[in-house]
Amino acid sequence: MQSSLKFSPKSSGNNYDWIVIGAGITGACLAYELVKQGLKVLLLDRELTPPNATRYSYGGLAYWYGTTPLTRQLCAEGIELHRNLSDELDANTEFREIDLLLTIPKGEVYQQDYDHFAIKPELLDLDQALVKEPRLNPEAIAGVLRFPHGQINPLATTQAYQRAFSRLGGEFKIEGVSQLKRLGNSIDGVVTSQNYYSAANTVVCAGGFSVALLQRSGIPYPVNFTHSQVIVTPPVDIRLQSLIMPASLQRFQLEKDQNLDPLLDVGAISFPDGHFLLGQISAINSDPEAILDSIEGETRIREGIRAILPSLADLPGTLYNCLVAFADPNQPLVGPLEDYPGLHLFTGFTFTLVLAPPLARHFALRAIGNIEPIWELMNA
Ligand SMILES: Cc1cc2nc3c(=O)[nH]c(=O)nc-3n(C[C@H](O)[C@H](O)[C@H](O)COP(=O)(O)OP(=O)(O)OC[C@H]3O[C@@H](n4cnc5c(N)ncnc54)[C@H](O)[C@@H]3O)c2cc1C
Repeated sequence: MQSSLKFSPKSSGNNYDWIVIGAGITGACLAYELVKQGLKVLLLDRELTPPNATRYSYGGLAYWYGTTPLTRQLCAEGIELHRNLSDELDANTEFREIDLLLTIPKGEVYQQDYDHFAIKPELLDLDQALVKEPRLNPEAIAGVLRFPHGQINPLATTQAYQRAFSRLGGEFKIEGVSQLKRLGNSIDGVVTSQNYYSAANTVVCAGGFSVALLQRSGIPYPVNFTHSQVIVTPPVDIRLQSLIMPASLQRFQLEKDQNLDPLLDVGAISFPDGHFLLGQISAINSDPEAILDSIEGETRIREGIRAILPSLADLPGTLYNCLVAFADPNQPLVGPLEDYPGLHLFTGFTFTLVLAPPLARHFALRAIGNIEPIWELMNA
């Protein structure tokens, strides 16, 4: 896959220079960056406010995470971009700097190696952890790892990108893509429920649904996905001072092993308007339409939260399901599929919210022929 990530932008007499499929955070930021470069762009989503991964995301900006030259550069660029994004898009993304506290259960030493990340965590003992977040259960945790982190409202940010895209002349249509339009192996655009659209280039930003779309179009699919469950509460009177997640994130193991039972990473995040996200269950199931058991999921999340943050366990809330795409954590799936001229991917980010916006900017510059050194790192 990596060796095929080479650009060969085409321009022709097609209706559009680019069609972007999917208007979650990846598609919205990429469409905006492409239209900003003067390209004629069509952005398609099958729903105006879809129940997608972006909507149910914690909004965390893990800019400490970089482990390779590529991800370190993108993390540094990503946090800087988010600090200025409300001004650029002329809409409030609700960006704020906030601590991320990774909980270490009592009786465990922290085993996961966080020291190879660009920014190393600070190890706080129980007393220090309780100062940072008094709602943590002192009976359950030995301490926390503290990272400097950022947070945005992911839905507000995505809508801000969509609006800025439209203001610059981009076309945003609510139409689901049933398949890619093929001329032999070349991709000439898309077929929707209502129309054909032609384009010199088509880029798939359909998150966990990318696999199904590529499959329907007869194209081998390098993207993978997990099912995810999370509880969303209405605005309440209490707040957390930090974002809370476990030090030992099992989701990454699930992505590697592909055959584990659904697992829970206990996380709790509050947003400035007072609503919480409590999560998160991840599960492998190759059917994107599969529905996980919601009663079991909600019970499991609430019991997990009760152990770590007891005062949040019984907040009112509703359980939601979504799909989350993933790929190699150090190598998002970004660029052309060389066996299918005209087709590109922009998906599979591990820390999407911090990585995708800066990479979208580089992608758009590349699309107009401006080849920057970062593409050497993409193919390294
Ligand atoms: C509980 C939870 C917490 C998370 N927390 C974080 C976090 O703190 N930080 C972070 O960086 N990431 C986090 N993530 C991951 C992050 O949310 C996702 O990686 C990211 O939102 C994916 O964005 P996307 O645009 O690729 O996909 P999506 O948001 O899923 O968007 C894909 C879009 O494609 C559309 N689509 C699909 N098929 C078609 C079609 N055939 N035609 C037209 N449109 C189509 C869908 O309707 C959808 O709107 C979290 C995820 C979850 C579930």
